[in-house]
This record gives sequence, structure tokens and C-alpha cells, in this order.
Amino acid sequence: MTDPYFPFDNTFARLPEGFFARQSPVPVRAPSLIVSNDKLASDMGITLGAESTLAQMLAGNVLPKGAEPLAQLYAGHQFGQFNPQLGDGRALLLGEVVDRFGIRRDIQLKGSGPTPFSRGGDGRAWLGPVLREYVVSEAMAALGIPTTRALAAVRTGDVVYRDGPMPGGVLTRVAGSHIRVGSFQVFAARQQFDHLQQLFDYTVARHDPEVVDPLQFLENVISRQTDLVARWMAVGFIHGVMNTDNCAISGETIDYGPCAFLDSYHPETVFSSIDRMGRYAYGAQPDLILWNLAQLASALLPLTPDPQAALPDYQAVIQNGAEKMQHAWLRHMAPKIGLKEPRAEDKALIHELLQLMADGGSDFTNTFRALAETGTARNDVANREAYDDWHIKWRARSAKESDPQTVMLNANPAFIPRNHHIEAMIQGAVSGDESLLHKLIAAHESPFDPRPDTDDLRKPPLDAERVSATFCGT
Ligand code: AMP
Ligand code: MG
Repeated sequence: MTDPYFPFDNTFARLPEGFFARQSPVPVRAPSLIVSNDKLASDMGITLGAESTLAQMLAGNVLPKGAEPLAQLYAGHQFGQFNPQLGDGRALLLGEVVDRFGIRRDIQLKGSGPTPFSRGGDGRAWLGPVLREYVVSEAMAALGIPTTRALAAVRTGDVVYRDGPMPGGVLTRVAGSHIRVGSFQVFAARQQFDHLQQLFDYTVARHDPEVVDPLQFLENVISRQTDLVARWMAVGFIHGVMNTDNCAISGETIDYGPCAFLDSYHPETVFSSIDRMGRYAYGAQPDLILWNLAQLASALLPLTPDPQAALPDYQAVIQNGAEKMQHAWLRHMAPKIGLKEPRAEDKALIHELLQLMADGGSDFTNTFRALAETGTARNDVANREAYDDWHIKWRARSAKESDPQTVMLNANPAFIPRNHHIEAMIQGAVSGDESLLHKLIAAHESPFDPRPDTDDLRKPPLDAERVSATFCGT
């Protein structure tokens, strides 16, 4: 069997030392591969090679040729509080690879040991969050949502202490880049404007080569992030920890800590055990992302020759962001009721259905999918008389569209990674049974194509199965 091969072509490591700390992964006791993503590897020109060697590399015991491991520096607002220094505390960028589509992508190990930015943490991850991120990020990709990807998950053979002893794991994550809002914030806060300018130049070259000034860059990031959050809303995804350090410039979903999908719909739904105020509740996400983007605006302002004079322009762009968010929401929600080219007045029609769902605690995924599959969601809502009124209006509106059913079938997944399945998968893997893990990975490759063997993934949790809180596991 051949050796693993990664065609590294690193650029971030060429930036000055102040952007990161060079750091090697800390070896673990007994690496073994749990799962690898062959399709993604092939897209990236990576040869996974012999499993045992791959496990050694992706657990951090052996560095692949060309890797230049480093921990990236960033800051961030965590639950609204500015933390002037965060940085990769349990992750390392190994390097970059240009994939077969010409896109440069980071390869990162998460759970690879302490770094200068660990702030007292152990630099490790346990299997639970590693496998949750693997399954959910790959499911998101299959749902068509921009996201970091999962290349592999390994067991370390070491014990990690959280609430008790847990099996350790390392995730190999792939991202368009790991540059975050917080990456800009750290240099703005330190008034290191030369570094800020260098980061801007680097990021623009990588993500927005046509951009010339920071304001235009801000507009692009706003477009990507509002579109992303709208896509989350459309599948019932709750990120759970939308701190500015978990907000990627690339517009990809990043950091699947305490994330969860809605089962029954209510806009105030929160799963994250650390989100006690509901700051990152499902329905709060569209406002929250604008708050984060306003922090990016503040961090970019010093790049303009006269920040005071430029302030109104930046404020206008952020204000306009609220409108972009509304448009994006409609763009991704309207197809769920068969409307491909929505008009402003369709918003009310969608909200009326959502209200009916909230009132009766309807299952988010199944209600929309029933509408798509059977042409009615009557059995999924509690107030049937009110539903019938809505249905008449909806029929009249959707009759003006061409083939609304196909639009709905393509917009409404038959299943999403439900929390109780994720929890059961983690419990299985911890006790050595990886069958549910592999079943979930396979099923979530085609979330719009239900098959008899994926029927059980469509069922909402029974009361006893319902997961009420999720944990970062950090
Ligand atoms: P998160 O919001 O989960 O992405 O993490 C916030 C910050 O805490 C980041 O700087 C992480 O690198 C750091 N962190 C999280 N868990 C650990 C850990 N086990 N050891 C060291 N640093 C950690
Ligand atoms: Mg993070």
C-alpha cells in the first residue's frame, strides 16, 4: 500500500510570525482511523494511502511531508464580550492544498494538543464532538450549505477528561480558510495596522481577488454570511455559538460545537448548554450575524485613510446588510413552499405557516417535506381549520409557479441529522460500536432521496429520546 500524500502548497505560513505560533502536534498513544472521506480526498488530490500510516499522520504522531503546522492567532466576541486573545487552542493548520477545482483549502487537525493559545485548556477533543462535527458538517455539505468539511476522524487511544474519562479523538477539517472575523479583530484591537493591512491583502487575494477596498470586501462578506444564515434557517440549523471567532470570512459554516437541528419548530429554540440567555437561538441568528458583521466593519475601518470620514459609508453597508438578510431569508424559505421567484408579499404567507407550526410544535423538517411530497401539511399542524385557510391562499399563490412540487422536493430535505441520532451515534462509538456512525454518514450523502433503509431517520424523537441540551465538549 502506498504512503499517504498531501500536495501541500502553503501560503499562510509565509505571513509574518505575528500571525501565528509555529507548533507541532503532540503525539498520542495509539492512533487508529475511524473514518476517512475518500471522495473529498480525491477532489483535493490527496492520496490517503495505508490506513495505519494515515492514522499516525492525522493523529499528529507523524508529520506528512510538506506540512508546516501552526496555531493561528485570533480574537473574538464570545457571547458579546470581547476577548482580545483567543487563537487555535486545540487545533493546528497543517497547510493548504489547491483542489481540482482550483480552490485553495486549509487542512487542519482539531484535537492535536496544546498550543501557546490554549489558555489552560488541554488542547484535546473527545470522540463526541469530533464525530458530531464529522457527520453534521458532511450532512450540511450534502444539503448544499457552505461549510468546512471533514476529511477524517481518528481515535487517539488516550483518555480525555471532561465530565469523566472520555476516549480522545482528532478531526481533520478542511476549510476554504480559517480566517475569521476575529482574525481581523485581534490586529485592530492591538492597533497593529500593518498586520491588519497584510491580513486584508492576504484574505482578499484568497477569497475576493476582484476587491480593491475594505468596504467592498465587507459587502462581500455580508453577502456570503447573510446567505449562509438564510440557508441555516431553511433547514432548521442552530449553530449555537456564533461568536465572532466562529464566523468565517469564506462564508462557510465553521465550528460545530453545540450545534443542533430543530425537531419541532419554535423560533426561540436553544440547545446549547452554554447559551443561557438564548443569544444564539434559532430565530435570533439573522440579527446576530449582522451584529458580528458590524464587528468586522469596526475592525476594517482603520484600513481606510480617514476612518472618521468613512464611518457613515460603513454604517450604511451594515444597515443595508439587514435588507440583504431579509432577501436571503426569502430566497431560501420561499422554495420550501414551492415559490422559486418570490415576491415581497410571499413573506407573510411563509410566516403564517411558520406560526401555525410554532403554535402546535410541528416538526420543522417533516412539515415542509409533507407539503412537498403530498401537497398538504394538514396532518402536521395542530390547528387544522387555520391550516385550511392557509392552504387555500397557498394553492392560489403556488398555482402561478411552474412545477412547485419539484421546487419543494429540492428545497425540503427528507431528513436532517437529528440530535437523538447524533447522540445515539456518539454513545455507540464510545462503546466501540461504529455502525450508526457509518449509517449516518452514508444516509446523509443524499438527504433529498429517502429510501426504505433511511425511513427511521425521518422520525422525530420520542419524548424519551428527545435531546434538550448539547455541549461543546471543549
Ligand atoms: P470554540 O468557541 O469552541 O471554537 O472555542 C473557543 C476558544 O477556546 C478557541 O480559541 C479554542 O481554541 C479554545 N479551546 C476550546 N477547547 C479547548 C481545549 N480543550 N483546549 C484548549 N483550547 C480550547
Ligand atoms: Mg472556534
